[in-house]
Amino acid sequence: PLVLGIETSCDETGIGVVSGHRLLADAVASSVEEHARFGGVVPEVASRAHLEAMVPTLQRACETAGIALDDVDAIAVTSGPGLAGALLVGVAAAKALALGLDKPLYGVNHLAAHVAVDQLEHGALPDPCLAMLVSGGHSSLLRVDDVTASVTPLGATIDDAAGEAFDKVARLLGLPFPGGPHVDRAAASGSSVAIDFPRGLSSRRDLERHRFDFSFSGLKTAVARWVQAREESGEPVPVADVAASFQEAVCDVLTRKAVDAARSAGIEDLLIGGGVAANSRLRVLAEERAAVHGIRVRVPRPGLCTDNGAMVAALGSEMVARGRTPSSLDLPADSSLPVTEVLAG
Ligand code: ATP
Ligand code: MG
Ligand code: FE
Repeated sequence: PLVLGIETSCDETGIGVVSGHRLLADAVASSVEEHARFGGVVPEVASRAHLEAMVPTLQRACETAGIALDDVDAIAVTSGPGLAGALLVGVAAAKALALGLDKPLYGVNHLAAHVAVDQLEHGALPDPCLAMLVSGGHSSLLRVDDVTASVTPLGATIDDAAGEAFDKVARLLGLPFPGGPHVDRAAASGSSVAIDFPRGLSSRRDLERHRFDFSFSGLKTAVARWVQAREESGEPVPVADVAASFQEAVCDVLTRKAVDAARSAGIEDLLIGGGVAANSRLRVLAEERAAVHGIRVRVPRPGLCTDNGAMVAALGSEMVARGRTPSSLDLPADSSLPVTEVLAG
């Protein structure tokens, strides 16, 4: 089936077109630069930008895919979780298209879409698989038995998301927003063992209650204190070493817990998605640690890891293929849609 996917949960207006597992178009307009001077996404600015970008991005996607709107078999849209006002723009657009074209509408879960997107690159998802989603808003470990119907959360961050930690540390180091890619680049010339930053929720006692949960706010504070102490002593801050040591602390915990979760569930496929999955160290360390236990790692290419419309189309396409009942036209935008709700109303 030919499926059009619409994503507007945060600051990317994404329109994707897929045919089965084949990617035909992935048009993304980002308002990230408008948020940069605020050091984080401003919801009102994001909503407005979605409204402006929706039609041109839709046209660009159709042109790239070489299709007319009427050719599509179904419309999929992120119905949550995300910023309420931002989600509303995508959901309204999707409803208008579904109604006007008389095609079925699928309101899908953004997190499940981050998992489904891997099918466009590596083919059908292994059932079950263990998914680790790490982005600016989420850090979760999920057991995925069927991406269209059965996703079970095993753990999540109890404070900051991994991407949020990258963005905050980047800011401390004077690097631009969003900071992840800049920290990644700076870390390449630093030493990951220069500074021993804390690994959140990794003590024996914490593991009893939070075996598959994450915490990054203590790490962020530790980096802030370290940098501040350096500045006060008048010495220059070794940006590359701080970046590399911080990055190592994040990737160490993420990969340890992901592999532990996969092993304890007896699952042999680990899928990593979300913007932080673009991190070069995370990819290497995950491969290394998973290989020790015979676990295969799947990571989509960086462009598919960050928010986009293709991931929504990919999940919509799977919904159609598996004969799921479409959402109704009064589908809500649900800012706190639980991950267990893969297909909304
Ligand atoms: P959501 O959390 O709702 O999915 P988002 O816009 O934060 O929304 P993404 O677009 O998937 O999610 O990811 C953006 C995040 O990924 C930012 O925090 C960014 O710093 C981080 N990121 C991107 N590239 C890298 C990288 N190479 N290393 C570390 N972090 C990265
Ligand atoms: Mg984003
Ligand atoms: Fe996302």
